Amino acid sequence: MKFAARISLIKPSPTLAIQAKANALKATGRDIISFGAGEPDFDTPQNIKAAAARAMEAGFTKYTAVGGIDELKDAVIAKLQRDNGLSYRRSEVVVSCGAKHSLFNLAHILFEEGDEVLVPSPYWVSYTDIIYLTGAKPVVMTTKEAEGFKLQPAQLEAAITPRTRALILNNPSNPAGVCYTKKELEALAEVIVRKGILVVSDDIYEKIMYDDQPFYTLASLSDELKRLAIVVNGVSKSYAMTGWRIGYIAAAEEIVANVTKYQSQNTSNATSIAQKAAVEALNGPQESVAAMGREFQKRRDVIVARLNAIEGVKCLNPQGAFYVFPNVSAFYGRSYGDKKITNSAEMATYLLDESNVALVPGADFGHDDHIRLSYATSMALIEAGLERIRQALGKLR
Ligand SMILES: *Cc1c(COP(=O)(O)O)cnc(C)c1O
Repeated sequence: MKFAARISLIKPSPTLAIQAKANALKATGRDIISFGAGEPDFDTPQNIKAAAARAMEAGFTKYTAVGGIDELKDAVIAKLQRDNGLSYRRSEVVVSCGAKHSLFNLAHILFEEGDEVLVPSPYWVSYTDIIYLTGAKPVVMTTKEAEGFKLQPAQLEAAITPRTRALILNNPSNPAGVCYTKKELEALAEVIVRKGILVVSDDIYEKIMYDDQPFYTLASLSDELKRLAIVVNGVSKSYAMTGWRIGYIAAAEEIVANVTKYQSQNTSNATSIAQKAAVEALNGPQESVAAMGREFQKRRDVIVARLNAIEGVKCLNPQGAFYVFPNVSAFYGRSYGDKKITNSAEMATYLLDESNVALVPGADFGHDDHIRLSYATSMALIEAGLERIRQALGKLR
């Protein structure tokens, strides 16, 4: 059959593919330990599930306003004020079916052929493909491991051309757990304002930060930044609600109006019941968020220490999110039997075949020297999995 050229521009999400492969192998009875998950392993907190159940019982099961119910917009507005010191009106907030959908909608109302969109790497796998779908070109700015994978102001400035429309900044980041300090953001902001480019701030991991570091989003730095910055966030990662599909954008009214118009001709509103659950997530007790954060930090400490204890592996200490992104390039060129490892994809395949451990090749995030492990899994599995990895790497000669 003939398909539109558009669909050949993109690949299936590699992280979702790894998870599916790990699940399929598990179903055949293989004892797989998966570090592939891109979602918290915790259950959605009970108060949030109860709110959804109440909404369903009350018959709140019909279409809602395309851009979300006022109650949820108000909860988002209150959250942005409380956590980020940002003031928005209802006309400046739009709710979509997950932050990925928010990003997709944004890209389609802002970018087109001839545009360039700046993406620091390592990057989240979906940014580049979403940009390709609009006809625009992602311009990848490779950050240095030695600089903590942080985008440098001079590097940003050098990448900006007359065609540049926007920068996408993910903070804390997937896959490297990079968190920018206020000072670092201010240095980037100076370039953004001077050049007058838009910035899409993907804040989805805002609530998963370690060592008591404070979170800052670019929009909160100045009035000028608030005009140029688009806040993208959601409940998936903070509240263990990935399956509920609620994300949101806060931005200038004309951006929100166009996203709402675009969404009115694709998904319409996000699920009514999930919207009520998200209201409870944002307005209700926040203890579960802190408890999940503490558990993630303990796991991070263990996984980073175990990785760095393996000769040849080098792993930075992530400051947020729930991934580690170790450098395993010291093993490239080595073999075990007839298996030779020369890149991150071969490394991931080797570890799956040899030790029944699933993880994602760094090449999918733009850095072939690395692999990504999610520690959104139990401490027992982290310890067992890391022991398997240590043994498998030890066999490479
Ligand atoms: C998980 C993730 C998202 C999307 O989350 P949704 O479930 O669609 O809300 C967006 N950005 C990054 C970096 C992510 O890791």
